[in-house]
Amino acid sequence: KPLSIGLTGGIGSGKSVVADFFSLLGVPVYTSDAEAKKLMQTDITIRESLIEVFGDSVYSESGELNRAELANIIFNDDEALKKVNTIVHPQVRLHYQAWLKEQGQVPYVIQESAILFDTGLYKNFDRIITVTADPEIRIQRVMLRDKCTRQSVLERMSKQVSEQTKIDLSDFVIYNNSELIIPQIISIHEQLSCL
Ligand code: ATP
Repeated sequence: KPLSIGLTGGIGSGKSVVADFFSLLGVPVYTSDAEAKKLMQTDITIRESLIEVFGDSVYSESGELNRAELANIIFNDDEALKKVNTIVHPQVRLHYQAWLKEQGQVPYVIQESAILFDTGLYKNFDRIITVTADPEIRIQRVMLRDKCTRQSVLERMSKQVSEQTKIDLSDFVIYNNSELIIPQIISIHEQLSCL
């Protein structure tokens, strides 16, 4: 069975970019955010629980997830957001476990998730990689990427586990300020491939 490696990092750190490079090296990468979005559409347990908690209107008559409606419900309501997470996260965990079993003969696979340390999920991995960059650089990147204000980035950042905590709990750290990330990624890849 391949080793299970967690890849995380704060908003704008560059996790997705790093994940793409691992993918190019042939490493199977599970992108939690994207998979969660798909499961909210396809997973019957999630569907039934969301309807039970938030009402029929979170899915359209044709069965599509009503994202705007759900976004409305959780906007500025941390309790509602927590409820959604409590419904979705366990199913993502199960889906990842099933996916992991299908990956065949590779030394390791990666699960990318922004919230490994927020959820206690990090304890389930064989090794953890954290991508980090200075706050100011991350703010600028996210403002550019999401066309959003500094304030909204700061708000999202303030809800995340601190960089230092993430670094302390990680086995590998990738620095993504102005450093070259490819040599860092190749070095980690070589180490993980011969564990
Ligand atoms: P989030 O948690 O918000 O999804 P993330 O950690 O996945 O963020 P990315 O989307 O990978 O971050 O990167 C954030 C933005 O910064 C992207 O637009 C990306 O192209 C850009 N970026 C990442 N790394 C660098 C870099 N080294 N130099 C310049 N731009 C970068």
